[in-house]
Amino acid sequence: MANVVGIDLGTTFSAVATVDQNGRAVIIPNDLGQPLTPSVVDLRFDPPVVGAEAKERQAAGDAGIGAFFKRDMGDQHAVFLEHGRQYTPVDLSALVLAYLKGCAEAYLGAPVTDAVITVPAYFNNRQRQDTIQAGRQAGLNVLRIISEPTAAALAYGIRPGLKPATVLVYDLGGGTFDISLVEIGPDALRVIATAGDHYLGGKDWDDRILRYLAAEFERQYGLDLIGNQFDDLLVRAEQIKMALSERSSVRVALDSQGQRGVFEITRDLFEELTRDLMARTEQLVESVLDDAGVSWAQISGMLLVGGSTRMPMVREYAARMIGHPPLAGIDPDQAVALGAAIQAAMDSTERQPAEPVYLLGGQRATIDVISNSLGLIVENADRSAYVNSIIIHKNQPIPCRQTRPYQLLVGQSRHGQLEVFMTQGEVTDPTGCAYLGKYVFSGIPRSRLGRVVIDVTYAYDQNGVVDVSAVERETGKPLQLTIEPLPADVPARFTRPPEPVAAAAHMTLYMAFDLSGSMSGGPLREARQAAHEFVRQIDLANASLGVIEFSDRVKTTVEATQNGKEIARGIDHLSIGRTGWSNQAHPFDALYKHLSDLGGNRYALVLTDGIWLYQQEAIQAARRCRKAGIEIIAVGFGKADQHFLASISSSDTLSFFTTLNALTETFSTIAQELTEGGGLIDPESMRRRKSLLARF
Ligand code: AMP
Repeated sequence: MANVVGIDLGTTFSAVATVDQNGRAVIIPNDLGQPLTPSVVDLRFDPPVVGAEAKERQAAGDAGIGAFFKRDMGDQHAVFLEHGRQYTPVDLSALVLAYLKGCAEAYLGAPVTDAVITVPAYFNNRQRQDTIQAGRQAGLNVLRIISEPTAAALAYGIRPGLKPATVLVYDLGGGTFDISLVEIGPDALRVIATAGDHYLGGKDWDDRILRYLAAEFERQYGLDLIGNQFDDLLVRAEQIKMALSERSSVRVALDSQGQRGVFEITRDLFEELTRDLMARTEQLVESVLDDAGVSWAQISGMLLVGGSTRMPMVREYAARMIGHPPLAGIDPDQAVALGAAIQAAMDSTERQPAEPVYLLGGQRATIDVISNSLGLIVENADRSAYVNSIIIHKNQPIPCRQTRPYQLLVGQSRHGQLEVFMTQGEVTDPTGCAYLGKYVFSGIPRSRLGRVVIDVTYAYDQNGVVDVSAVERETGKPLQLTIEPLPADVPARFTRPPEPVAAAAHMTLYMAFDLSGSMSGGPLREARQAAHEFVRQIDLANASLGVIEFSDRVKTTVEATQNGKEIARGIDHLSIGRTGWSNQAHPFDALYKHLSDLGGNRYALVLTDGIWLYQQEAIQAARRCRKAGIEIIAVGFGKADQHFLASISSSDTLSFFTTLNALTETFSTIAQELTEGGGLIDPESMRRRKSLLARF
């Protein structure tokens, strides 16, 4: 049977574990027989050397060693150059994972195919994806990614006899700090809140010892610690710190530039030097309790995870807050890997029910929470500033999905695109957020209202990986997604006010009706109805409409206006005979007079049902209008002449020959095109609409 393992891919140390035949989670030693492997890679060898040896060379100050790369996971620009080769944090992590996989295979005597890998709770989407990628690169099928405190709690949670409780998982490792509030129920582990600091860990405690000793040496001898002495002290500082976990005082001898001094560091002094670091962890604990609305009285225990929790100051803090010593029984360095192994065993049991079932002391489900809110950058209501709008709030159990509607002015999506900048953060200020990616949605339809509603969905899966999707509400059509690199000026670009959307140019349009005798009765009624429908479909905030009637004479019934009532009244008053009974006149001189001097988009919509007496004159006058930038749309039915319609209109696309029945539909189609195009007609779109009309 292929084996599954759990891997704690740590900043300073990593470990691999499995669940044995007896159902117990056990650490697998590396090829040196040690439970922990330093997450350090010596790249000067081919293949690179992973672990203790590389760490020793790093301590000796050798170049070409990769360490602390977990801190750069998710950073696309972080690369480590060695021997002309580039290594990304993913490559370096993959080397550590492959090494651990090899150790596990040697120990188990069987291939290892599947693994659960742990990450800090606050790892973002890209960092989690990078971790999955590193696992794949190491030849592992990554069953899932779980948060380190969740894994640790799982390790404690499977211990028989533990009653339902709410516990704090305090995880202080070499380079990271995580704090999580975990509910342990009879059947499930549920993380109800988390917080963390990516840049706080045992190394900071070492640095305080280092800085103190260097400063003391300088104070007493007026000399700096240089070169090797400094590197040497870096390693010794950690040993001093660890010794202070056992003893109340340590003596340190330092040599530099011919001077030798002996210094004493007491545990009290060490605690004094690092008080602010400890206080920082305490603040984060308080913030987690605050977020979850849980008081200290409701906490039944604290699980200590990570090598740095061996420091007495941490244990004392836990005991002080809880009222009794922290839970013990699991090695703080190993809890995460053990929990990962348990999760891996559960996952593979779920996947292969026919295989032997692991004895886990009761199946437990893990429910993780999202550690940081996820949102996107939008313009505020009055469009004066950019703000972060949260879609998924922190501490929601995962997996989860959340949708929020966003209104988009058509003017903002000239190219039919919506740009989503995904944020991680709790504040509305865009500069206070981390940016996880740029997602560009395309294919946004133009809308008749000049604005569209886009429903943006974030789905957060079990691995903490976010999937982004968007749907245009009216059509229900999913939009196409492209992921683009984050521009360099993010978030600086969001500190400026949004660029004003170019106000859609104003449109002025006159409807000119041929009201010769043949229009009386049904045709006039239909023309009025078509005209009313046309007005209803036009966005009068950006358009003025006028009405002209003509037969033997020409009369302007309504001067172009944005007043819908006035336009409607003019349409109702259209009447046969007022300008004569036959077709001696044409409307183009009047149209020229009204429209030639105006700015914006100008249109004439001419309706006729017959043949005009002076066609050549009309064609010439129409040409003059077109030269002045007035677009002419010609609509004819009945006895109207198609060639004549084509020769007065601006283009074939703008000449319509229709029937009385389809008149209203024709007018409304033209109005829709104008409104959705913001006062412009797109020939391609108009042609499509026209072909649909032809079927009517
Ligand atoms: P981890 O990342 O969980 O393996 O934790 C490693 C960190 O734990 C390093 O900073 C170590 O210096 C620290 N550490 C390990 N053992 C002790 C100890 N006995 N006392 C204090 N710190 C320790």
